[in-house]
Amino acid sequence: MARVFVITGPSGVGKGTLIRRLRSALPELRLSVSATTRAPREGEEHGRDYWFLDEDAFARQVRDGEFVEHAEYAGRRYGTLRSELDRHLADGAPVVLEIEVQGAQQVRGTMPEAVQVFVAPPSFDALRERLERRGTDDPDVIRRRLDVSLGELRQQEQFDHLIVNDDLDAATARLVGIVRDEIGRPSS
Ligand code: ADP
Ligand code: 5GP
Repeated sequence: MARVFVITGPSGVGKGTLIRRLRSALPELRLSVSATTRAPREGEEHGRDYWFLDEDAFARQVRDGEFVEHAEYAGRRYGTLRSELDRHLADGAPVVLEIEVQGAQQVRGTMPEAVQVFVAPPSFDALRERLERRGTDDPDVIRRRLDVSLGELRQQEQFDHLIVNDDLDAATARLVGIVRDEIGRPSS
């Protein structure tokens, strides 16, 4: 049975939105809370949205081997904590990792059995509009994320599944279908 699902793709493409909808459809799915050195956005909570760490604490956890994967993204560090993943897997629950593309590539190397889904925007302009409309990032941060997205989008073919998030309901249905199929598959 597939137990780890990696949802990746550029910032603003709709990963968080799709995962919220996926988890309403399949409540047994757990979401691994990542660690990051970026500042909390308004309304974000330590331990619920992220484990917000300073640079020293993050570096220490890297040295101590506490990350399954970690990456620098647009000048900040992000990583999946082994303790988070193991806690959910020990409960026998399937787990979703919402991570950027370098981290997803690392997981492919270390956990080839994980199911990887790349979420792509219908166009670059749509991606920019979503980041602008979301209103969570300053213009320079948005510019940086869009720059990074060009390299990320070139890697989309390397993933097990590709979902173009154009119509949100259709994209949600595809994601739920992929995860439901994999959860129902006997282990090999
Ligand atoms: P990510 O987690 O990938 O950074 P979000 O889930 O935060 O992206 O989505 C970015 C913005 O785009 C949000 O404001 C969200 O409501 C919007 N959005 C998500 N999916 C769609 C879609 N299919 N069509 C239009 N807007 C969307
Ligand atoms: P944000 O700052 O918008 O919350 O996240 C920026 C990017 O970092 C997003 O693409 C998000 O998926 C990614 N991200 C979040 N957590 C992790 C993580 O644990 N590891 C990696 N590699 N990327 C992450």
